[in-house]
Amino acid sequence: MPRPALRAPTLLRGEPLVDRSPPETRTSRRRLRACHECDWVVALPPLHAGEKAECPRCGHTLASRHHRPAQRSLALALAALVSLALAVSFPFISFSIGGFGNRIDLTQTATTLIGFQQPLVAIAVILTIGVLPAVYLVSVIWLQAGLLRGAPLPASRGIARSLSHLHPWMMADVFIIGALVSLIKIAGMAEVGLGISFWAFCIFALLLLLTTQSLDADWMWFSLAGEPLAPEGSQTGESAAPQGLAGCATCGLVNRLDADGHGRCRRCNESLHARLPNSLQRTWALLAAAAVMYLPANLYPIMTTTSLGSSSPSTIIGGIVELIEMGSWPVAMVIFVASVIVPVGKLLALAWLCLVAPRANKHFALSRTRLFRLTEFIGRWSMVDIFVVAILVALIRAGNLMSIAPGPAALAFGAMVVSTMLAAMTFDPRLMWDTPLPREAGLTQGSPP
Ligand SMILES: [Zn+2]
Ligand SMILES: [Zn+2]
Repeated sequence: MPRPALRAPTLLRGEPLVDRSPPETRTSRRRLRACHECDWVVALPPLHAGEKAECPRCGHTLASRHHRPAQRSLALALAALVSLALAVSFPFISFSIGGFGNRIDLTQTATTLIGFQQPLVAIAVILTIGVLPAVYLVSVIWLQAGLLRGAPLPASRGIARSLSHLHPWMMADVFIIGALVSLIKIAGMAEVGLGISFWAFCIFALLLLLTTQSLDADWMWFSLAGEPLAPEGSQTGESAAPQGLAGCATCGLVNRLDADGHGRCRRCNESLHARLPNSLQRTWALLAAAAVMYLPANLYPIMTTTSLGSSSPSTIIGGIVELIEMGSWPVAMVIFVASVIVPVGKLLALAWLCLVAPRANKHFALSRTRLFRLTEFIGRWSMVDIFVVAILVALIRAGNLMSIAPGPAALAFGAMVVSTMLAAMTFDPRLMWDTPLPREAGLTQGSPP
């Protein structure tokens, strides 16, 4: 089937795409969106800077408009990239005990783990705190620079599509909490110093957060590729799937699906499904994998501390008990919430949502969607303990006097966090809003009465 031609936005080549009036004023048609969380089809209202459009049924944000979006994202992304460069160029943290001392760079928090035969954990650490954020920021700069100069740079659509997939795996903010917990853990035993890199990294984490919030996907995709016509006969105020439509999760455009309920977005080429294929089975499988990995994560030591020649392994729970005995109640609570409450709560919540999803009920759909949003939001914070291990292992290296080695639980726990994050991604929240077949339809489709 030939791709329908995109209707180009009314702009001249070479003219900056950024300071023109917003999408609503450049097109006479209604711009339809199908909510990504509840599948409700709505028409976007005209938005002014500082406003956002929410789904009237579930409250999911459909679009948010910023003042000068391209300049804003470009400036934030450049500043974040500079602070990341500073953060990897200077010493991160130092410690000294009894005349022995050690000073580490940011990258050593990952590279030291390789020396302890933990390459997978090392890769997870370096990807989540440095590599993926750097790729994300360079992509944002590339996209916005193209829009500012008036013609998108090469590969802009592919890059814009990958941004939303990178987003959940960037964990600079979680790493900061991990660094603070590590500092409090060792502050009583040794002298700790914060390097320039630590402060640069804090600024980087903040700027990265602001950059992700500054991106206005609706505006960006309109500027990149215009707004193709909504499929004929699309009705607002109804679910998209029964009309044979689906909203694109990446660019928002409403597309018609083929007879099997699949298709590709006409604007960004993202694959589309009426409902994610085998969503519940996949989520169950990933939850089962996470539950299996939770056992070794708690039974084996997460790190082994050697102090004055004697080594003592400690599990996640053991570490929390130790902290309480040291009197560090607040830190013990942080680790307890991040390493016990959040992963177990997320497992149980997702399992429950999988159980009730086939019996969708419009009275509970909103509260269930809120629970799902919570599990999606909190999942990554479990990585705190992995970052604490990475920092302590790299930093505390004073031979027999005091040193820390990672334990086998670190890999199991990291794998569990990743599995539960993937489980939340494969779960399709739209299932919770699907109205069950009316009794009459159920009777005609099922066994005769
Ligand atoms: Zn919705
Ligand atoms: Zn799309």
